[in-house]
Amino acid sequence: DAALVWLRRDLRAEDNAALFHALKAARQVHCAFIFDSTLLDELPRADRRVEFIRDSLVGLDAQLRAMAAAHGVDGAGLIVRHGAAAQELPRLAHQLHVQAVYTNHDDESYAIQRDAKVRGALADLGISFHTSKDHVVFERSEVMTGAGSPYSVFTPYKNAWLKKVDAFYLSAYPVSRHAGALAPRPESDCSEVPTLESLGFERTNLHELKLPSGPVGAAELMQDFRERIDRYDDARNYPAVKGPSYMGPHLRFGTVSVRALAREAHERAAKGSPGAATWLSELIWRDFYNQVLHHHPRVVGHAFKPEYDAIKWDHGKAADALFAAWREGRTGYPLVDAAMHQLNETGYMHNRLRMVTASFLTKDLGIDWRRGEAYFALHLNDFDLASNNGGWQWAASTGCDAQPYFRIFNPVSQSEKFDAEGKFIRRYLPQLAKLPAKLIHAPWLARPIELAEAGVVLGKQYPHPVVDHDEARARTLERFAVVKRPA
Ligand code: FAD
Repeated sequence: DAALVWLRRDLRAEDNAALFHALKAARQVHCAFIFDSTLLDELPRADRRVEFIRDSLVGLDAQLRAMAAAHGVDGAGLIVRHGAAAQELPRLAHQLHVQAVYTNHDDESYAIQRDAKVRGALADLGISFHTSKDHVVFERSEVMTGAGSPYSVFTPYKNAWLKKVDAFYLSAYPVSRHAGALAPRPESDCSEVPTLESLGFERTNLHELKLPSGPVGAAELMQDFRERIDRYDDARNYPAVKGPSYMGPHLRFGTVSVRALAREAHERAAKGSPGAATWLSELIWRDFYNQVLHHHPRVVGHAFKPEYDAIKWDHGKAADALFAAWREGRTGYPLVDAAMHQLNETGYMHNRLRMVTASFLTKDLGIDWRRGEAYFALHLNDFDLASNNGGWQWAASTGCDAQPYFRIFNPVSQSEKFDAEGKFIRRYLPQLAKLPAKLIHAPWLARPIELAEAGVVLGKQYPHPVVDHDEARARTLERFAVVKRPA
């Protein structure tokens, strides 16, 4: 009997749950990826994620071939199609004469609807559909309170997560042991992974960024991070420092197994590394937001705390102009602007700066968090619906376990604290490069002579601040007054 593995956000052969289950169950296993036109048609023609996926498929294809070849199977590899996945997948399953399709869970709303259609179409063809957890360590209702309800506060969730985790949950699926069941690709599907151009996309600057793709790229980045993980708890705070792992896109597209990363962090944390313990915590945040999305799909488009939907955000021309200034890094607040340039130019933004810019949009500019969320969704290489929504609702104080609304980030003191020398600002705002550290965080406070010495004329090379932070803060407290201050 034959099976088809449908890869989506799990672009690796090693330690892949769906692939493992298929190989154990069937004698001939095909693997396929579909460039889903329903999703791709919505994207701009230059998108780093599409390029990252495309390049990662080349690596995945090589991994599958090598695994099969080690068992004496020639001509295995990845089948790649382009079309509306809800139709393409059943068509492919039918053409390959398989009895079963295996895939890994994707709990985003679009994927749930698409998979329901696929399941129905496959059932009509007499083909079974099997799904597995793979994207997170614990999903859905695996970690619940003693009363059997989902957690909405992170720390108790984390404690329960740590209590439940053991070697079983973190061990790898031994895929290669069973890879002899990988099937040679059918004659008609022996072509290469399609080029970006043939998919209707243009090249981006992905190759200039330090973001190698595919399972090999993930291993390279992790090897590099391994040297730094013990210092992560401190180093992760400073955007000018190479502190975090940069594994986001690899976790998003599954070119690495989260079980492998969590296992490594867990073992190292147990040996007393505070950096590894903090990093493990971040992976647990990822699980946390994933289960929030599963239990509360309404968070897409709505405040987690329904009373916060009463907040009136600013709309209209003036708000649109402020939103454009935020998007384009022209707010006059150097740390905010440098961060937006980092996002626009690289598709990455440091975690502290995601918090600072999201706070600035919602609390300083009074603009609806959903507009910022959508902008990040379009531009982040590691965009993940659950984490992005969670991060935005955290910053806007509308979410589950969010920061209290009366605690408002000050963009200048954040800058002084986390980019004290202005190194990050100078990297992304070269027009301010000559300003001394004490002036770079709030150039409007500098004397004209000091600005002139650094070659800066406010309103020319760099804008005046678009809002006054103290006034904005007062407006925000009023705006949030519709919601009762928690006791
Ligand atoms: P590291 O610091 O090395 O962390 C390792 C991994 O842990 C990350 O790759 C990520 O998978 C996970 N992680 C870390 N922090 C968080 C967190 N707070 N919540 C959930 N998972 C976390 N993360 C995304 O993966 N996708 C998003 O779309 C996203 N949008 C965000 C939006 C806002 C407004 C905020 C405040 C945070 C957002 N985050 C998002 C969380 C975090 O900023 C990124 O995961 C992190 O900066 C990615 O860089 P890294 O891979 O170097 O992370």
